[in-house]
Amino acid sequence: MLQHISRPLTYPIGPDEAERRAALQELGILDTTPDKNFDAAVRLACSSFDVPVALVAMLDEQREWFKAVTGWDAKEAPRELAFCNYTILQDGVFIVEDAELDPRFSENLLVTGDPGIRFYAGVPVGLSDEHHLGTLCIVDTKPRTLSAKEAELLRTLGQMVSNLLRQFHQTKIERKLNDQLDTERAARNQKELQLRDKQNLLEYASELAALGSWEYNHSTGHIIWGAETRHILGLTPVGNVTVEAVRGLFAGEDELKWQREIARFAASTTSLLFEGRIHTPDGTNKWIRVLGKTESNEGRIAKFGLVQDITKEREIRERLNEMVARDSLTGLFNRFSLLQHLRRLQRDQTAFSFAMLDLDGFKFINDTFGHAAGDQCLKRIARKLRSLEAHGAFVARIAGDEFGIILPDIGDRRGLERRIGKIVASLAFPMRFQQQTANLSVSVGVAMRSPGTSFDPETLIAEADMALYEAKILGRKRYSFFRSEMKYLAAKKAKTIVDIRKALQSGELELFYQAKLLLRDRSPAGHEALLRWRRKDGGVETPEAFRPALDDPLLSGEITVFVVRSALDQAREWIDRGDPNVSISINIGPHQFRDSNFPNFLLAEIKRRRLPASAIEIEVTEDVFLGRDAGEVLKTCRTFNECGLRISFDDFGTGFASLTHLLDFPVRAIKIDRSFVSRLGTEARAAGFLKAACDLAHSLTIEVVAEGIETHEQCELLKSIGCDYGQGYLFHRPSPASEISPK
Ligand code: C2E
Ligand code: MG
Ligand code: MG
Repeated sequence: MLQHISRPLTYPIGPDEAERRAALQELGILDTTPDKNFDAAVRLACSSFDVPVALVAMLDEQREWFKAVTGWDAKEAPRELAFCNYTILQDGVFIVEDAELDPRFSENLLVTGDPGIRFYAGVPVGLSDEHHLGTLCIVDTKPRTLSAKEAELLRTLGQMVSNLLRQFHQTKIERKLNDQLDTERAARNQKELQLRDKQNLLEYASELAALGSWEYNHSTGHIIWGAETRHILGLTPVGNVTVEAVRGLFAGEDELKWQREIARFAASTTSLLFEGRIHTPDGTNKWIRVLGKTESNEGRIAKFGLVQDITKEREIRERLNEMVARDSLTGLFNRFSLLQHLRRLQRDQTAFSFAMLDLDGFKFINDTFGHAAGDQCLKRIARKLRSLEAHGAFVARIAGDEFGIILPDIGDRRGLERRIGKIVASLAFPMRFQQQTANLSVSVGVAMRSPGTSFDPETLIAEADMALYEAKILGRKRYSFFRSEMKYLAAKKAKTIVDIRKALQSGELELFYQAKLLLRDRSPAGHEALLRWRRKDGGVETPEAFRPALDDPLLSGEITVFVVRSALDQAREWIDRGDPNVSISINIGPHQFRDSNFPNFLLAEIKRRRLPASAIEIEVTEDVFLGRDAGEVLKTCRTFNECGLRISFDDFGTGFASLTHLLDFPVRAIKIDRSFVSRLGTEARAAGFLKAACDLAHSLTIEVVAEGIETHEQCELLKSIGCDYGQGYLFHRPSPASEISPK
């Protein structure tokens, strides 16, 4: 008991004590249950050194806690009594040959009482050399010495224990990883699979890392195999075993490697570390790790070492590699593996192409039919993409609905285009969900690398991404190849945002107005406000020149404020000039329409100018309805509807599910897209489609406006189809307000 000690026991503390303890806490090994691996290590230490006690001790704040102990019935000891306090302060073997003669320990209760330590030898152990978390030590109740060879063996055993600690740590990380996987999978309702995987992993991780020893007897030329080693190698418990016989165990090319390694080890004084596969005589396949040391003592060379069965460790490693490399939903490689593969190609400098795929309108499917449906689509696409692997392609899921494909070079750009075209075509198909059909398709961006050129994988991906952006802009379900000017376009996009922000501040933005007419008698039926940028040099740009600014979530908000205020001021002015039936349509981008502050803002601006709600109409494109927050959008639509503000559905026919949206959202008019109007008269089916759309709209008491009418023929056809209103160059081009007389 401590109070019997005549002077207080003190012990040294290293400068890294705080970090060391933090690392120990992080490892989370304290107070865990016994573990076969560590138990095997201390038993091996006892038998190797013929000592009664061996421990693996972790140095906690107040105590040394034993992860494994043999020959002593204790779980822990007070920290101030621990010999290991000294061991962890140095890197080598700390030896006390006789504790009774050592003033540091002679009065220590562990010396004077149980277990009666006289001899102690310990080596520090830890996850790295940085902090010694604890020790592997051997204890005897008689004084004794430790030869250099024995010290070396103890050190090797210490390394094995450190390996076990690292394995423990890895298992913990695996568990964490597994937990994360579990969460992900739970979301996907794959509970059974998840449990099976988890159990397997934990089973593997907790299997014993069997250790055995061997020694080469120089005078007889024989190798002495420890019993455990014989067991691991599947050899008979007794009898001579030649080096040749062991060589014969190794499988395939490992036999040659082993032969080379062992010959090098035999001829030199360097150490041996070899991992290879063996077939044991009883027919089992195993992975083993062989460690060897050479020691020279008074001219006598001794070679000895350890053999470890690492089959389970390799399995875990391979499974982990699998888990790290694959996407759990689709089973395809993930972004990490893709980058690794690209780096390999980077080293080889071979030619290849990289295609980046993105599902068109995936958000719509996800939002309409739920995430399970979205997952189903991704899996279906993944299955189709996998067939490309048979032709040497490397296929990965990069993110959400993005896939990457590395295609081997076929030396012919046309051939490549045909191949990509086929991929796009094969990935356009309908899928049914809840009695409804969604059309799947992909857009693809391709970047190429010629042989012998160096490249950076991230840049390559960015290039394919730029090409993909173009494919999307050009209308989806198609592919684009990267061209160097796209880089310039990306930079240009950033520049546009800066330019338009400046233009907005310096008053260079302006609204033009285009008249809308009742087709029946061409009487005026309002105007659409269209944004223009009047440059300082007098040139006037349409929104196509500064589309990125309208798409930018932040800047587009500022632009909308400007557009709304200018259009409303214009309405006020025209009313004041004597036209009570003024109607101005304003185009509102998706970011703003989904902003829950937008209705309040617009209604307040209308009220401030004492305008009738009928003076304003809002034009939105289908993008507005595609967001996650469809409920919020519907609420906004209803608010406007109740206030008497009309909403019309712009660019009708170009989107994904226009007809569905007509039923779901309270719109008062549809604006048939210019692309349909321009096909009138040349394509019979266009007229059919427009007629059907008009009939449907009318049956829902929705009015129909045709945009982009340029010819009389189009105008007459539209009229005959039953279209109510029209807009187009045939009547008026968009012009500054100053050039328009409202009445
Ligand atoms: P939009 O709303 O569908 O506008 C119709 C576009 O067709 C306008 O192009 C108009 O000038 C053009 N157009 C009208 N009649 C004809 C015709 O007979 N032939 C041809 N070839 N074109 C005709 P603009 O003004 O360049 O606007 C393009 C798009 O930019 C608009 O499409 C709208 O989506 C967007 N936009 C315009 N102003 C604003 C705005 O203030 N805010 C937002 N967020 N978007 C705007
Ligand atoms: Mg419009
Ligand atoms: Mg339009």
